Amino acid sequence: MIVTVDVDKIYPNGCHALKKVTTNIQRGEVVVIIGPSGSGKSTYLRTLNQLETITSGEIIVDGVKMYGGETNINKLRENIGMVFQSFNLFPHLSVKENVMLAPLKVTGRSKAEVILEAEALLTRVGLAEKMDIYPSHLSGGQQQRVAIARALAMKPDMMLFDEPTSALDPEMVGEVLDVMKSLAAEGMTMVVVTHEMGFANEVADRVIFMEDGALLVDDIPENIFGKV
Ligand code: ADP
Ligand code: ADP
Repeated sequence: MIVTVDVDKIYPNGCHALKKVTTNIQRGEVVVIIGPSGSGKSTYLRTLNQLETITSGEIIVDGVKMYGGETNINKLRENIGMVFQSFNLFPHLSVKENVMLAPLKVTGRSKAEVILEAEALLTRVGLAEKMDIYPSHLSGGQQQRVAIARALAMKPDMMLFDEPTSALDPEMVGEVLDVMKSLAAEGMTMVVVTHEMGFANEVADRVIFMEDGALLVDDIPENIFGKV
């Protein structure tokens, strides 16, 4: 589904964040990226939906090479949902309005349809009772579940998660991981940067270990965690 070939990323300040990173994410796969802080995990994730440009190498989406201006980046981003460490919800919009905003703007679906979808998604992430309140009245775990529903509202082919539980109090990590597990079980293609090794071991089809901008290991979890 997404292939990266010898991808290098050098930031304007000279930081060499990715070094010849070659990966192949297949449809329906759950790939977990682990590695120390600063090893390039977040940069790698952001190159997949072109939030970050690459310095050299190639990224191929569904067989089509992406070169800067030639591909429709907005279209690509609609097909790739992203969830960040910080939830980035709009504080002046209700939970339901947060989920409805992007699909109303870009997909040409009717408002009635978008409302029904938002309600279904919020029910699915366990927030049926919280649809009409403002994000500031929710716990961190609930806000992150809204952020996941908001990303799903675009009906993406693929979901990227950048340390989705790192900003949460420990007791809220489980509820977010449970939503992610159910997505994985339904066959969603997912790339997840996380320090949650239990999730990686249990849910990942493959685990990629990065260090100092390079991909050190790309293997099934049994081969990475099984020896411990
Ligand atoms: P990780 O997600 O593994 O913590 P990052 O991808 O965030 O790693 O960062 C990789 C390296 O790139 C780090 O040395 C970081 O300081 C650097 N870096 C990340 N973002 C930028 C940026 N916007 N400009 C310059 N350097 C950056
Ligand atoms: P993460 O590892 O989750 O990306 P960081 O703390 O490394 O978190 O980065 C937070 C933000 O700061 C990111 O948007 C990243 O691009 C930016 N950033 C990180 N390192 C640098 C840097 N050396 N120079 C400029 N921006 C940076």
